[in-house]
Amino acid sequence: MRTPTPRRLWNYLTRRLRLKRYLQSPGDGRRQPQIPAQALLWAMLVGQILREYSFHAVEALVRSSARRHLCLRVSFGDDALGYFTERLDPAPMRAALAAILRQAKRNKAFDDCRWIGLAVDGTGAGRRRRRGCPLCRPIRNAAQEVVGYRHHFTLISVVGTGLSLPFDVEPYGPGDSEYRAGQRLLARVRQNLGARFISYVVVDGEFATAPFLHAAGKAGWPVVARLKENLPELLRAAEKRFRSQPPE
Ligand SMILES: [Zn+2]
Repeated sequence: MRTPTPRRLWNYLTRRLRLKRYLQSPGDGRRQPQIPAQALLWAMLVGQILREYSFHAVEALVRSSARRHLCLRVSFGDDALGYFTERLDPAPMRAALAAILRQAKRNKAFDDCRWIGLAVDGTGAGRRRRRGCPLCRPIRNAAQEVVGYRHHFTLISVVGTGLSLPFDVEPYGPGDSEYRAGQRLLARVRQNLGARFISYVVVDGEFATAPFLHAAGKAGWPVVARLKENLPELLRAAEKRFRSQPPE
């Protein structure tokens, strides 16, 4: 069996997944780049696979003797990664991920799956002590004191395919909400993937509000929502109706 190598990963991404153009032009927003965007992006991708996630760890990788084997020609510091990612436009990555999904569908990767859907849920990242940007949302303790900040996102994944495939996130800052971010996400995904890619959207009970259901309806997708305490009457009625039946 052939062992996986960075070179084979590169070939897989560029030939099979057709990501060459994205890897070359990932939405670089730097004015006068010295280090090619492709080198920085590739170093971060390799870092993800080697579980060396931090910029500091990626810097150690590209400065080590392993660099040659990682298909990296240039060396750089963690500050270069910070400067690059802060100015990176997310649109090309979103488009590239949607293109992979469409390609997978064309290649019949989902043909055995009867119900392909989208799952929408909240997630977070980047906890810090002090507020660092307009998207930082305060974390409060039981006494409502601010104990730190964190970034929050609504995440969307293709589900029902045997493997959950997350492919887009929408951030929401203070004054915004997970549900409003979810609506923006649905509108974008419909544009990037097309309405006929999936047949339903699955969400947690809190998403089952009129504006979100309306946004899904506008996209042409029925919503499967988990019934919870936020709709007490409906929950009681459903429990009463289905209590005596085994699930099908
Ligand atoms: Zn922030």
